[in-house]
Amino acid sequence: MKLRKLEELLQQLDGFEKPKVLLEQYATSPHVAACMLHTAEESFGDLDGKVVADLGMGCGTLAIGAALQGARVCYGFEIDQEAINIAKQNLEETEIAVEIIRGDVEAGLGSRWEKSVDTVLMNPPFGTKKNKGADMTFLQEGLRLATRAVYSLHKTSTRQHVLSKAKQWGVEAKVVAELRYDLPATYRFHKKQSVDIEVDFFRFSFNDNN
Ligand code: SAH
Repeated sequence: MKLRKLEELLQQLDGFEKPKVLLEQYATSPHVAACMLHTAEESFGDLDGKVVADLGMGCGTLAIGAALQGARVCYGFEIDQEAINIAKQNLEETEIAVEIIRGDVEAGLGSRWEKSVDTVLMNPPFGTKKNKGADMTFLQEGLRLATRAVYSLHKTSTRQHVLSKAKQWGVEAKVVAELRYDLPATYRFHKKQSVDIEVDFFRFSFNDNN
């Protein structure tokens, strides 16, 4: 699907009604999500016909986008019931099938999911609030689930840490793009109208299966 068309479709989805700061509920913008999904398919062939999981699916942007890119099966994992309710609404309106699983990615999703999907997509909590390191816990869980690739966003300021962890875990890590991620002033502690943060868009893959 063309990048512009994908972005247009994702723009029609509903976002968080009352975003929860402790869960770091920042929706991926349709523009960023469309770029991620387009790259995953056009450059790497990681979505069409594949089994895909979205960890921390929120309102479902990445999972729905993966389905639009031809994913054969999509799973969306999310801890928050209110986000799940909005995701369900989005699925009904778009008539797209994603199997939603309520679960805690940081606590681990259990052995049932080990190497059960081809590709994992996520925009994890960055772990800037109380849950320091949450993005790396999400990443580790994503790598446990996927057999092919994990796509994830991490703050550019943590790039060296992410790269050295990947090396330690024996996975290939590639910064596919550097994004400016526009966090709208959703929460009261943001004094400015919006805050730009620099974010790396990573693709992780397994050394024997690039
Ligand atoms: N993937 C969505 C939302 C990103 S925000 C999008 O791209 O728009 C991060 C999401 O992770 C939120 O929906 C939040 O509720 C969820 N989350 C935070 N901690 C979690 C946990 N431990 N387990 C599962 N989901 C979690």
